[in-house]
Amino acid sequence: MDFFHPQEIRAVLERHGFHFSKALGQNFLTQSWVPERMMTDSGVDKDCVVLEIGPGMGTLTQAIARYAQSVVAVELDHALIPVLDETLAEFNNITVLEGDILKKDLRKLCDEYMSGAARKLVCANLPYYITTPILSYLLESRLFDGVCVMMQKEVALRLCAKPATSDYGAFTVFTQYYAEPQILFSVPASCFVPQPKVDSAIVYLKTREAPPVPVKDEKVFFQVVRASFAQRRKKLVNGLASAFGDKEKLVKLLQDLGFSENVRGETLDIPDFAKIANALAE
Ligand code: SAM
Repeated sequence: MDFFHPQEIRAVLERHGFHFSKALGQNFLTQSWVPERMMTDSGVDKDCVVLEIGPGMGTLTQAIARYAQSVVAVELDHALIPVLDETLAEFNNITVLEGDILKKDLRKLCDEYMSGAARKLVCANLPYYITTPILSYLLESRLFDGVCVMMQKEVALRLCAKPATSDYGAFTVFTQYYAEPQILFSVPASCFVPQPKVDSAIVYLKTREAPPVPVKDEKVFFQVVRASFAQRRKKLVNGLASAFGDKEKLVKLLQDLGFSENVRGETLDIPDFAKIANALAE
């Protein structure tokens, strides 16, 4: 199967009566350089087993299968399962599972299909409507060594943002707490069918073996982060007061930790958030 020949693609999809679903974020890759560069830039090799989310008609899947030891691919759209049976027939290192990635037990899936591998990776051209829940689910599982995914460029910039910039937010801190994200390259809308309305980027998230700073209670840490960004333009102490109460005590706590009472959440980095959360956890 030539995944990059428009007539061949159309013929396969028509034969199976397949229609693109906007609701499922279906924008399929049509340019071979994109999956190739995803594989080489993220260092996928025969030491890796890969979980792919949303294989579509198998364009990225076949590239992963050529570079990695094996692939397990989870596709939600029932209509794509017979398409994948046909397009990936020549490979013996691919398992396609039907289902919603957010409902899969990732530990069970890893034990069943990815055990014994030197490196466990996730690769995907993500369905953009659930980029944030998928990334949260993957990172919180702490099961993977790295995640190489295509997403909306705007979201990629948010993941990699630095404090005191307009892209910096609660999801930046969440992501950088679990991983070190890096934009590998940009992908224009012209590389997909149908073409999305936004530009895309490939991000590699190297997952951390341990948090970047000691955190006494992760629940409190993320509560502090969310409260700090809930009222972005307001002083940190007001955001914290709505989550933790007693503003006066909070002013004192911030001052004791060396912060001005006028400090804004968006200027703080992960060690700053940890300092505040650890003091609150005590
Ligand atoms: N990987 C293919 C490619 O690059 O051409 C398709 C990528 S397309 C952007 C996203 C894919 O994710 C679609 O095949 C869609 O059906 C699938 N998908 C959407 N929601 C999903 C979910 N919750 N779990 C698994 N797959 C999902």
